[in-house]
Amino acid sequence: LIVTLPLSDTVVTYPAGAISSESTVLHVEQLADGRSAVLLDTTAAHPVDTAWPDQPADRATLHSESASQPIVDVVTGGIHEGVLHLGTDLPVRNGTEGWTFVVAHLIAGEAPEPGSAVRVDVDAAYRAALSAGHTGCHLASLALDEALADRWTKPAPADALGNPAFDALAIESSRILDDGSVDVYRLGKSLRRKGFPADGFADPASIAERVNRRLAEWIAAGGAVRIRADDLRLSARRSWECELPGAHVSIPCGGTHLTDLADLVGASVSFEVTDVAGATEVRMTTVVQRRHS
Ligand SMILES: [Zn+2]
Repeated sequence: LIVTLPLSDTVVTYPAGAISSESTVLHVEQLADGRSAVLLDTTAAHPVDTAWPDQPADRATLHSESASQPIVDVVTGGIHEGVLHLGTDLPVRNGTEGWTFVVAHLIAGEAPEPGSAVRVDVDAAYRAALSAGHTGCHLASLALDEALADRWTKPAPADALGNPAFDALAIESSRILDDGSVDVYRLGKSLRRKGFPADGFADPASIAERVNRRLAEWIAAGGAVRIRADDLRLSARRSWECELPGAHVSIPCGGTHLTDLADLVGASVSFEVTDVAGATEVRMTTVVQRRHS
């Protein structure tokens, strides 16, 4: 048995907004649990990233000449020295030198033949809700950095708008939901050393009010959003580019997004602050409302 794995990255079309793709099956890997990982030359399906799993996998269907079946998960794979490492077994981040990165479509049914033509159809409604949630998440993090800017006691690295990068420096995890997101921040000793005071989050209600006021302004103004990519490979560098009043912002991002802030009618955040061992944990929940949903 000769197993041939792809020698180049999967071409991905979801960053440009595609929800359907026609492709050729390059490889099928049988997994220990009975499922199969199907590798294609190109795909519209967004895989969950292993190192930074913020946006969940798309829901999608795989159509071959003989069958249509649900794709039960879409994960990131990495190929190194002839071995395919999938999802949480992938030991390196997407983009690591010397590796080939692929989108693995996991299916439970009979796998299509390598070399055959297939089509991937993404659940458009779920994708749209995740894209709205992801755009809202970026806006909320920028508005949060701005709302906290006057609390820093030392110069700190700046975010895309030039404010001290609280979000980047304190983030523990970020999860994109349909029409929302949950970001968890840890305020501990290392953040204090960087200049964010221990009582910096003492009044979450007024911080939320400032964030929500700014979100309302940005959404009312509207502004084009797009993903800029070096090229179409899965491991290519991509960024979220957004026009805000008086500023163009660019943030590295592997997910999917709206095409204009005018697609939103509103967004708001709320905070939950908890004391944990040696630190304070802040959970920011963002909820967005779309114009057409
Ligand atoms: Zn992002």
